Amino acid sequence: MYLHPPERLDELLDDEPPYRARQLRDWLYRTPVRTTDEMTNLPAPLRARLADRHWPFSVDTELVTPEGDTRKWLLRAPDGATIETVLMGYRGRTTICVSTQVGCAMGCTFCATGQFGFERHLAAGEIVAQVAWANAVLGADPLPGAPPRVTNVVFMGMGEPLANYDEVREAIRRLVELVGMSARSITVSTVGIVPGIRQLAAEPWPVTLAISLHAVDDETRSEIVPINRRYPIDDLVAAGREYFDRTGRRVSLEWTLIAGTNDTPETARRLAGIARRMRAHVNVIPLNPTPRSSSRPPDRATIDRFVAVLRRAGVRATLRATRGRGIEAACGQLRVRRSEEPLTLDGPVA
Ligand code: SAH
Ligand code: SF4
Repeated sequence: MYLHPPERLDELLDDEPPYRARQLRDWLYRTPVRTTDEMTNLPAPLRARLADRHWPFSVDTELVTPEGDTRKWLLRAPDGATIETVLMGYRGRTTICVSTQVGCAMGCTFCATGQFGFERHLAAGEIVAQVAWANAVLGADPLPGAPPRVTNVVFMGMGEPLANYDEVREAIRRLVELVGMSARSITVSTVGIVPGIRQLAAEPWPVTLAISLHAVDDETRSEIVPINRRYPIDDLVAAGREYFDRTGRRVSLEWTLIAGTNDTPETARRLAGIARRMRAHVNVIPLNPTPRSSSRPPDRATIDRFVAVLRRAGVRATLRATRGRGIEAACGQLRVRRSEEPLTLDGPVA
């Protein structure tokens, strides 16, 4: 039912009174439940009739870290497409990482999804349903110490959100208008599709923008992020700065730290210069190795030095702990693993 426009749910309801559409919309978006049986104010025959159409996917696999603070789902659509959704609990915050495409056409060399190639776009309903499913599960079974409802959505799962602009836009609209989330608690992460950034800046919802930069010179960036040949660093940085000027939202620069590629103090200094010009902060994420690439994260001392240089230069920088390594929680990894070898709950990554 998430594939149906939420404002036209009456089309699925035949002879029901007009208020049923609103009741159903609330069960889908505002207070989601796992099964139609739980939609207590709908008549039983209607609940039964809608049961098969409730979710646009089935849960293929659910993995949970030993601490219980991270849950990951591999979801399967009726056409066989599989996507990943990761839920992470923190004190005061429950964050979901959603997919926007099945695979990705951008081909970043270090990314499991990129190595897989592009299969298809996700519809807005398939994107929002990931959040609704998480809310339905959290209502019955919250993550320890975290709010029993999704408080933050990051578009950092499989796919490039701005390469699927219209569906992502509609997903954001539903998250704000129907689920009731604030735009600032939604983060769109992009590899750097410059026209998409400009378009997003003009939308009525001031979502948070994350730009996956990963390099300070075009030669290095084009090697690991091929779309850089189309939208080089200077244009990207200008678009990021415009986003801040227009929306008042500080951009974050995502930096996947790769040994021998983008981890020197000199690179950190240049990155600090870019971040200051953009009024951005930096998220440093040590590379999660993927099966099809020989790239590795730097050692601990190199990681710490990189972050220290940024901070000394006056840039707000956070080092992101890799959550859920044991359950293949990095971008696209569970899916790659499923297709290549048996699944383990806490085996080492690659
Ligand atoms: N396509 C978008 C959003 C999905 S990727 C983008 O590229 O921004 C989300 C983030 O995960 C990006 O910053 C990406 O660079 C990073 N990422 C991808 N593969 C990774 C890996 N193996 N280790 C660490 N970060 C990775
Ligand atoms: Fe696509 Fe993002 Fe992976 Fe690049 S990092 S291949 S844009 S999902």
